[in-house]
Amino acid sequence: MSKNVAIIGGGVIGLCSAYYLIKEGHSVTIIDKSSLDSGASYVNAGYLCPGHIIPLAAPGTIRQGIRWMFNSSSPLYIEPRINIDFLKWIYAFNKSCTNKHVINSIPAILNLSLLSQDLLDEIKHSNNFKFHYEKKGLLMLCKTDNSMAHEEHTVGLAIENGLEAKMLNKDEIKQLEPDVEIDSIGGAYFKCDQHSTPGEFMSELKNFLLRKGVKFIKNTMVDNFILTGDKIKHILIDNNPIKFDEYVFSAGPWTNHLCNKIGVKLLLQAGKGYSMNVDEQTNINIPAILVESKCAVTPMNGFTRFSGTMEIAPINNVIRKNRVDAIANSACSYYPNLKITEDVRSKATFGFRAISADGLPYIGRSNKIKNIVIATGHNMTGWSMSTGTGKLVSDFISEKSSSIDTSFYSPERKF
Ligand SMILES: Cc1cc2nc3c(=O)[nH]c(=O)nc-3n(C[C@H](O)[C@H](O)[C@H](O)COP(=O)(O)OP(=O)(O)OC[C@H]3O[C@@H](n4cnc5c(N)ncnc54)[C@H](O)[C@@H]3O)c2cc1C
Repeated sequence: MSKNVAIIGGGVIGLCSAYYLIKEGHSVTIIDKSSLDSGASYVNAGYLCPGHIIPLAAPGTIRQGIRWMFNSSSPLYIEPRINIDFLKWIYAFNKSCTNKHVINSIPAILNLSLLSQDLLDEIKHSNNFKFHYEKKGLLMLCKTDNSMAHEEHTVGLAIENGLEAKMLNKDEIKQLEPDVEIDSIGGAYFKCDQHSTPGEFMSELKNFLLRKGVKFIKNTMVDNFILTGDKIKHILIDNNPIKFDEYVFSAGPWTNHLCNKIGVKLLLQAGKGYSMNVDEQTNINIPAILVESKCAVTPMNGFTRFSGTMEIAPINNVIRKNRVDAIANSACSYYPNLKITEDVRSKATFGFRAISADGLPYIGRSNKIKNIVIATGHNMTGWSMSTGTGKLVSDFISEKSSSIDTSFYSPERKF
């Protein structure tokens, strides 16, 4: 049965949901408070990374967060505060930071990443889109033995789970990246990973959806719902009631505000990250994560992007220069011939990741309000999991069973 669906939030998760919903014959309206050209879905590192099988909620994350709390240029910052949503979130997050949780989460992460990879291949080969998407793998560059040991452990888990990954020494890294000097003692190589240029995919997807009749309502914030029983009856836009059969909540870290309005509880925090682009030739050919500083380096179409930092704090638009400099300086220390000018640094931009309380996304229906599907909380891998998430959203709304077990992602799961 064809439904009239509103998607609140037109980042990559909202657009991919629209893509699969229209394939099922639904009519779709995307409503976004922005002009749909900024935020996490545009500034991210572009990795499609099934090799990232360890959730953010893992042993050591909180300890590291506390250690880095007073270092203004550290890669992870958790702002302590007396706020009930934050306190509930940090309690649940801390509870999830166990080895058992990591092992239990691997299939949930892997299934969705691999489904997404297959679906993105399908989109790429459909000939409806032109966007940069390459399969060159991802290097994890290390400067210390400690990091090497940590990476070796992850590589072992990746191989156990059927992924192509291996450890490399300094010479092997040189063979892979012959045209650029790298200062590292070695690293891991996740051959299974891919990368893309986010702005290109977003632009192609928006144009495709427009051509297919999807309606876009931009610069419009949704914050008013009228309920009838256990359903949303309509939303109010400029005081006008607009009625839909179903509502997709894909508003990134703002999704908990939407949920609060209708009495649905979602443990979610915003994790700000920065990125900057170097247009000059860097000779960097293989994407890399600089393990000690947690910076991402991506050779995109026509430029190289440097990104990083996770600031878990109330949402604000402040660009912290010391964190931008930390990303740039770290990149220059791994790539000694690289120059990142003041001009590039001054143009750094940011986006907010949606951080769930256990490192797994929230995708599915609420028990309380029956005509919503929640799709958020992808942490550091929302780009990687976007097409799969869109497909699952469409399956929920079309009342179809999905090709992977969706119970892992239930927004109703207990912590
Ligand atoms: C620096 C950085 C690097 C990253 N690198 C990677 C990577 O390499 N690989 C990867 O997989 N992931 C990466 N991520 C994460 C990834 O970018 C996000 O997980 C993904 O973009 C989330 O998409 P989204 O659609 O859920 O959210 P967003 O892109 O944040 O979109 C949410 C939209 O909702 C709109 N909205 C919010 N509230 C309302 C409202 N009330 N009414 C209307 N509209 C509303 C917003 O305007 C926004 O457009 C990175 C993130 C950052 C910040």
